Order: sequence, then structure tokens, then C-alpha cells
Amino acid sequence: MTSPQTPAVLELRGVTKTYRVKQGLFGTSRPLTAVNDVSLSLPRGEVLGLVGESGCGKSTLAKILLGLEAPTSGQVLVDGEEIRAQDRMTLARRIQPIFQDPYSSLNPRKSIFDIVSLPLRVHGIGDRNHWDAEVRKILDIVGLPARVMNTFPSQMSGGQRQRVAIARALIMKPEIVICDEPTSALDVSVQSQVLNLMSDLREELGLTYLFISHDLTVVQHMADVIGVLYLGRLVEEAPRDRLFNEPKHPYTQMLFDAAPRMDAFGREIDPPKGEIPDAINPPPGCAFHPRCPLATDRCRTENPEMRNIGTTRVACHHAQ
Ligand code: ADP
Ligand code: MG
Repeated sequence: MTSPQTPAVLELRGVTKTYRVKQGLFGTSRPLTAVNDVSLSLPRGEVLGLVGESGCGKSTLAKILLGLEAPTSGQVLVDGEEIRAQDRMTLARRIQPIFQDPYSSLNPRKSIFDIVSLPLRVHGIGDRNHWDAEVRKILDIVGLPARVMNTFPSQMSGGQRQRVAIARALIMKPEIVICDEPTSALDVSVQSQVLNLMSDLREELGLTYLFISHDLTVVQHMADVIGVLYLGRLVEEAPRDRLFNEPKHPYTQMLFDAAPRMDAFGREIDPPKGEIPDAINPPPGCAFHPRCPLATDRCRTENPEMRNIGTTRVACHHAQ
């Protein structure tokens, strides 16, 4: 969704990531394509949501964008420049992560002050007084009192810990924040508080987010544009409201149907059946065809190319 007014700050061009995995104790190693030929662009100041079931490659994409994993092929560009060519430290200043689990992502032996100030100390920015002032400032921004500086993660709730993780990500004043299921480990009531905080911060600080979740309702809350992943491939991308009002890909429609629904009598309707195929042995043709109500012979043999239908990009032979 790049327009001339908003150049992409982050762009993926045909990115593929293949791992080698061993099957069984003495098994030979086989390729597993976690991310398959994905092209995406993230305009400055926007929120791109990525949604898909477990194992579809969301976290692998996040790691590639953070420079934590190298793509097997394809390009990752930051402001039009290849990520590989960029200095690690500079990149870390510009792109910061917020991960799912606020329990394991915060070092339990460090105080909140140590955790939040770490990026400044690693990058050798300022002195103790500066760190102190910056930590107070950012804690205030994420809605935590300054006194938590001297406490430890174990003394905090899940929601408070995720605020600490957000503070740590933001203290470097990054341009881009990669959020991988940032609220999935939290109680539903706390989830919305953290999501609202993240929306507010985006406005206040002019952040660009890549927002990853398996939960369509969470992505709907946050994203301007939504990409749907299936078995490592981007199958549909569209502006949020368009995706919700006019989902084009049968998989996107299935995701909507899988959200809890009730019939006219208040009984819950069963979600559609069908299993996610094995990423090591993906189905030929369109990977979704075994679960697809529209599948024809063409779908079983020929992988659909991404094409534009209005403002939607979709990879399906039957989408109209
Ligand atoms: P998601 O975050 O959407 O659940 P992941 O990106 O974690 O998906 O995983 C995508 C696929 O890649 C899965 O089949 C997973 O088992 C596989 N995978 C992820 N990381 C590795 C790795 N380091 N080595 C081998 N396979 C991996
Ligand atoms: Mg994941």
C-alpha cells in the first residue's frame, strides 16, 4: 500500500526463509519453508497488521525484519537500503521489538531501572543522571509510577511487565516497532489496556508498527492495513475495513468464520474444520486447497500469483 506521499520505511521483496529440520533421531534433514516469497511494504507512520494461524511464519518474519535471522533469498530494505548493509547498532536504534511473553523477555535478576535503561547503556548514550531522567520519562509515558524503577519483574503483574517491555523498546526513540503477539500472554481485560496504550503511543511518538497476532480482532483494533499469512505465504493484503467488509481469499473468510459466532438462538456455531498442513510437506499448487471450499484442479497444481483487485492484493485463482 505504498503511495508517493508515504514512502515505505520497511520493505520486503520476495523474502523466503528455509530452515533445515531433522525428522526423527536418525532422520535426514529436510527443508522447511517458514516464509515463502513474501513481499510487503510498511509506510511511515502506519500500522501493518499480520495475521495467521500458529506456524504460518509470523515470528520468522518478525525476526527477519529485526535482523535476527537472515532471509534465504529476497531483500529486506529499511528506507530503501538493504538491511544487511546496515550497521547492527544503528539498526537497533531504529527498529525495536516487543515480544509476546513479558515473563521470559525480562531478566528476573535485573531491576526495572536496569531493564529499561539497558538500551541506552548498551549504546553508550549519556550518563547515570541521563539514564535516570530518561527512564522516569518513559515510565511515565507507559503509565507506570517512577517508584517501580527499584522493583523486579517478579513483583509486577503481566500487564505491568508488558508496559516495562514497551518502555524498554521505546527508550531508544525507534522509528519502527515490531510487535510479535504483544498481548497474547495477557488477560483479556489487560490486553485492551495495553493495546490502547500502544495506539496512543503511535500517535504521540509518530511510530510505525508491524503488528503481529493470530487474533483477527486484535489486529483489527490496531492496523491500518492487514496482511493474511498462510503456510508462509502472504495470501491477502488490504486496507483494514476493506479486508473486513470484503475478504477476497477463502482463507481470510475462514478466519472470520472461526471467530466465535452465535446463531439466531444464541448457540455457538462450530468453527470450520480442517487441519493446517505440515510445513515440511506443503500441498502442491495452492497450499490452501485441501481446506478450500472453492478448490478446483487448477488449485491443486498451480500456485496462484498475487494480483490486485482494487486496493486488495490476493493470491487465489477464484477471487473476484
Ligand atoms: P508463527 O509465529 O506464525 O507461529 P513461526 O515463524 O514461529 O510461526 O514458524 C513457522 C514455521 O517455521 C513453523 O513450521 C516452525 O516449526 C518453523 N520454524 C520456526 N523457527 C524454526 C527454526 N529455528 N528451525 C526450524 N524450523 C523453524
Ligand atoms: Mg509466533
